[in-house]
Amino acid sequence: MPELPEVEVCRRQLAAWSEGRAVAGVRLPDPGAVRRVASSRPSDALPGADAVLAGFVGRRCTGVDRHGKRALWRFGDRALLLHLGMTGKWVRRRADEVPRHGRVGVVLDDGSTLWLVDPRRFGCVVPGSLAELSAALGAGHGPDALDAPLDGPGLAARCASGRPIKVLLMEQGRVAGLGNIQAAEALWRAGIAPQLPASALDAAAWARLAEAIPVQLEATLADTLGDEVVYVSEGGDNPFAVYGREGEPCPRCGAAIRKTVLGGRATFDCPVCQPDAVTPAEVSVKPAGFRAS
Ligand SMILES: [Zn+2]
Repeated sequence: MPELPEVEVCRRQLAAWSEGRAVAGVRLPDPGAVRRVASSRPSDALPGADAVLAGFVGRRCTGVDRHGKRALWRFGDRALLLHLGMTGKWVRRRADEVPRHGRVGVVLDDGSTLWLVDPRRFGCVVPGSLAELSAALGAGHGPDALDAPLDGPGLAARCASGRPIKVLLMEQGRVAGLGNIQAAEALWRAGIAPQLPASALDAAAWARLAEAIPVQLEATLADTLGDEVVYVSEGGDNPFAVYGREGEPCPRCGAAIRKTVLGGRATFDCPVCQPDAVTPAEVSVKPAGFRAS
C-alpha cells in the first residue's frame, strides 16, 4: 500500500514526465476512477467524467505537489487531485498501449500516455479548480512528515494521547504520510515499542522518534527512486528492517523480530531494541551496518 515515499516517487515521476507538456487527449476505460472527492469508493464517481477530463485537453502541466499520501497535478488554474488508494500507481506507456488495470490515461503531446493502474480500484482522480483542490490537498491533515518534520516537543504535542504510539503515528490528522510500514520502521529506529502509550514517552524518546521519521522516509525514498514502484505486498524486494520479517534477526541486535496485531494491523518490532519499558533505552536511529540509513 502506498505511503509517503511511494507517493513522493509518483510525484517526482509525474513531474519529470509531464511538466511543460500539453495534454493531447484523455483515455477513460473506468469512469468510476474519476470521483467528486478523494475517496476509495467507486460510488463517489463524478457524473460526466469524460466531458470534465476533456476540458484538460490543450492545457500544459505546471507542476505536481504532494501532501502526505496525496498528490496534486497542476494544469494552470485547473488540477487533478490524486489518491492512490490501496494498489494505485501511475505509469508511463506509449500512446497506443493500454496497461492491465489501466483506469485513467492522460495522453501527452510527446506521444506518451500516463496511466493510473489500479487493480483494486480504491484509487482515484478528482478534477477541479486549482484553488479548490490546493485547499483540499492538506485539509484535515497534520504537517507533512517529510517536508515539514516536527521536533520532539512538536511531535509530542500532536500525539498527546494515552493510546499506542504506532496507532497515533498512522492518523493522518496528526502527521501526514505515515502508514503501517513507515510507522513500524520509524519506531524501530527510535527504539520505541509500538504498543507503548504515547503519554509514557519521555522527551528523549520524542526527540529520537522525531528524528527517526524523516530519516526512515528518506531511506525508503532512496531505495525506491528510479524504478517503477513495486510494493512489498506485490512481491517486491523487502527493504525494511522489521516489517514483514517475523522471526528474522533484528539488523541492530540480532534478536528475532516479533509480529503482533495492534489497532487491527500487523505490526513488527524487536523485543530487545524496543523494550516495553516506560522509558525506552537509548539507541541510534541510524544503526551502523543497516543499509537503509
Ligand atoms: Zn533489535
